[in-house]
Amino acid sequence: EWCDIQDILGVVLAQVKEDQLQRKIHVEIDPDTPFIQGDEILIEQVLVNVLSNSIKYSPDGSEIRLQVQCFPSKLSIIISDQGIGIIAAESEQIFDKFYRSHRAQHLPGTGLGLAICKGIIEAHEGTITAEPNRPQGTIIRIELPLKELEEGKIEREEEM
Ligand code: ATP
Ligand code: MG
Repeated sequence: EWCDIQDILGVVLAQVKEDQLQRKIHVEIDPDTPFIQGDEILIEQVLVNVLSNSIKYSPDGSEIRLQVQCFPSKLSIIISDQGIGIIAAESEQIFDKFYRSHRAQHLPGTGLGLAICKGIIEAHEGTITAEPNRPQGTIIRIELPLKELEEGKIEREEEM
């Protein structure tokens, strides 16, 4: 199924709207972003999970940035925040089921969100990685393959 990241982002932002009131979410989307092959509902679920983490683990007034960048064979979605952050040594563990860092434990959660996200992204032949942000916070990077870029472009033109 072909899906439009731009549409998906609209749904995702509406879904986190109530939680995000005290956060500033900056969205930067490459205007040439083609349609991608994937399950819209599942990709939506991944972005809601990752963005909800950025909101939950950041203080009021904090800034969150969501960038969509296109490359010849992949699409990158980067969500960065300035919240409590992770340490480099945790960047793989946070995708394990039930893993929660010490500094996150005063906030509610089960430690399942990112494990689910990883399963969904890998089912789309993509990758999801985490790294500490500088000077503070977390960066989550999702990469999805663009195998049929040309077809995706044609699809978009037909819809317009
Ligand atoms: P839930 O199952 O409700 O999502 P959770 O948020 O604890 O619970 P995950 O989303 O899987 O679980 O995240 C796992 C852990 O990774 C978190 O408990 C937290 O320690 C860390 N983490 C994830 N995202 C961030 C972030 N944006 N900033 C800081 N820590 C994060
Ligand atoms: Mg979570």
